[in-house]
Amino acid sequence: MKIEYLFLGIFLLVIGGIIASFGYMIVREYQTFLGELSRALSASERQRYQIAILMTTGGVILLLVGLGLTMYGVVATAGEKGIDRLSKQIVEESEREFNLYFKYCPLCFAEDSVKPKFSFGGKDYAVCSECGAKWHLYFGLRGFKWAKLENINIHGKGSEFLNKEYQPEFWQRLALRGRKETKN
Ligand SMILES: [Zn+2]
Repeated sequence: MKIEYLFLGIFLLVIGGIIASFGYMIVREYQTFLGELSRALSASERQRYQIAILMTTGGVILLLVGLGLTMYGVVATAGEKGIDRLSKQIVEESEREFNLYFKYCPLCFAEDSVKPKFSFGGKDYAVCSECGAKWHLYFGLRGFKWAKLENINIHGKGSEFLNKEYQPEFWQRLALRGRKETKN
């Protein structure tokens, strides 16, 4: 999460602002006529003046770091949200495309039983809840490319297709043919 940078940034901004303005207030006092006089007369007053200058500088640095972190936090958080939205869109689109081809299970011919499971960076899978057949799905830049049967179903069907990459249309044809045959 990048939102922490935002919070840390705002925190530093506030703390830096307080320290800087406090330091600057003291510096201003030492720059008046009376202040200059006290510095000329006392070593400890001179030291306090130096510390006030350091405080002001340090506060300003904190303020600037806080400002940078806040800006980074805002941009990064917005970017993360954008990526989230985009990946959700990709999943929805992939799901829609998958359902088009896998409306019926190619092995047991059940309706709406094969459900995809998308994982970013990992393998995408689809499993039939009726017969237990399992496919490894591959989506390229232009959508659903192929599905490879990795587990045959509980009735022992599908061994001839095992571990081969077939286009979505192939599985769709298989399912539609199977449904036609079982109806007759
Ligand atoms: Zn099935």
